[in-house]
Amino acid sequence: IPNGAAFSQSQLLVAFNKGVTPAQQDSLLASHNLAVVKRYDFIDAMLVRKTTEGKSIPQLVNDLSALPQIRYAEPNYIKQVDRTSNDPRFSEQWGYNNTGQTGGTPDADIDLTEAWDTFTGSSTTVIAILDTGVDYNHPDLRANMWINPGEIADDGIDNDGNGYIDDIYGIDPGAGDSNPMDEDGHGTHVAGTTSAVGNNGIGVTGVNWNAKIMALKGADASGGLPNSATIEAMNYMVMMKTQYGVNIVVSNHSYGGGGASQAERDAIAASTGAGIVFVAAAGNSGTDNDVNADYPSGYDLPGIISVAATDHNDLLAGFSQFGLTTVDVGAPGVAILSTTLGGGYGLLQGTSMASPHVAGVVGLLAGAVPGAS
Ligand code: CA
Ligand code: CA
Ligand code: CA
Repeated sequence: IPNGAAFSQSQLLVAFNKGVTPAQQDSLLASHNLAVVKRYDFIDAMLVRKTTEGKSIPQLVNDLSALPQIRYAEPNYIKQVDRTSNDPRFSEQWGYNNTGQTGGTPDADIDLTEAWDTFTGSSTTVIAILDTGVDYNHPDLRANMWINPGEIADDGIDNDGNGYIDDIYGIDPGAGDSNPMDEDGHGTHVAGTTSAVGNNGIGVTGVNWNAKIMALKGADASGGLPNSATIEAMNYMVMMKTQYGVNIVVSNHSYGGGGASQAERDAIAASTGAGIVFVAAAGNSGTDNDVNADYPSGYDLPGIISVAATDHNDLLAGFSQFGLTTVDVGAPGVAILSTTLGGGYGLLQGTSMASPHVAGVVGLLAGAVPGAS
């Protein structure tokens, strides 16, 4: 039995030599506290089970194999499916499973196919994307959009009384309304990395196949994200989690700049205090964040994961900011294929693309281990 092989602890497969009568078989099995579960006549073998706690399966395999009546006895090994996705462009997503398809180093990836053998994500997990909005009509995102269960669309009424009229997919504090439709494309690309619908036969796959996307549009008409908008968005996240029971486990923040802000810091602390992990891009200026601080990735708060970008050789991307103490992890961020506006797909690069790989993984973990801190 190979080290680490999984097998049933109560059953094994047994075949008798020719000439051993059924009565002799039953008697021999009974003397080892075994009973027949099922016979496989086409291979002249049977599945048997232990009738007492008794000996271990490896011990039984050894004991039975030594008997002259036994042709073989073996564990009932348990196999695992090798799960990849059927999305046609999955093979281009080198960051998930690097086979050298883009000229890089095989296995310089985040081992997602291995992770997916265990878990592909839960539809009860919500990932908040605070960005330029999300194209919630994209065919590879639509089914994974979070929909506010307490709100009725387009009736001009704040049905759930949360202070926002018709907030179906999230809100748009950048414009002061409840429509987080993306007009830039950045947030749509980010959302596709965390949570494009997996295994639906079209397009790309999210790190998390099933997690729901809450769209929070922090960009105003200029395209920038003012702290006022990002703080209002964080307030919305905390409110929806703590007062409305929405299972937001992680938020993604692929933006940065400006100076340290106590309000932003307090908003992040409130958000992480509510159990929402804060994943942030480290920035694209190639500089050391320990020397020149980046925000929001650089606040000294325990709930922040600051993400640098790596390439298909597992090297730090040339543009990526870094920092021995202020940056926590690297993730794929060069030539990343994901969803774009108008139902399309395209490549983008940046720590913005690296960060959602991490947010997607946090979502996977939270779904696989409910109640984890
Ligand atoms: Ca509302
Ligand atoms: Ca409404
Ligand atoms: Ca897909």
